[in-house]
Amino acid sequence: MRHEYLAALGIPVWVQRADATDAAEAVTDDSEASSISSLDDLAAQVSACTRCALHSSRTQTVFGVGSNDADLLIIGEAPGADEDRQGEPFVGRAGQLLIAMLSAVRLARADVYIANILKCRPPNNRDPKPAEAEACTPYLERQIALIEPRVILAVGRIAAQWLLQSDRPIGRLRGTVHSYGTAGIPLVASYHPAYLLRSPLAKAKAWEDLVLVSQILNDPS
Ligand code: SF4
Repeated sequence: MRHEYLAALGIPVWVQRADATDAAEAVTDDSEASSISSLDDLAAQVSACTRCALHSSRTQTVFGVGSNDADLLIIGEAPGADEDRQGEPFVGRAGQLLIAMLSAVRLARADVYIANILKCRPPNNRDPKPAEAEACTPYLERQIALIEPRVILAVGRIAAQWLLQSDRPIGRLRGTVHSYGTAGIPLVASYHPAYLLRSPLAKAKAWEDLVLVSQILNDPS
């Protein structure tokens, strides 16, 4: 259904590969997370999680923050130092930039839900290992199922590649609408705000991606 109005808007939709969807479902089915019926209960389970080695170096888990029935779900890769300290995702300079960009399309932090693939900080902010992402994915899958967003915005190469099970560079994943999971949730990939702080020239493209998100959110169908 959603694909039809995206087509009407002239926005191409890439459908997620069946094997990637199956893999994500297999992980979810393998976890107790899939039976949890509220975000609070899921957050409580995450806070006690020892499914991967990152539990031993975290200050605290960073579950996610925002409206439980948000239309827009923003997903990054993992908590950084500030997030690990404060227990909230996107709280540093990158977070401030993200909020400023959201407000430019009339979205407040409270209107969206912000989460990461990993709920614990990798040491020295290294990239998540595939095994860590796989271990943590059932929690994210359950978050998505409970929030039921109308759109997912994946920020950064790692989040976009993991969610889409693709090895294409972020520059080729952005600028179009993908379809996520069996529910076919529209997914837009964009640059991570931390990258935008280092590469201001990319802001124009990130802005185009946010406009695309806004277009989908504002479509009444
Ligand atoms: S990163 Fe995820 S899977 Fe690993 S310990 Fe933290 S909550 Fe558990």
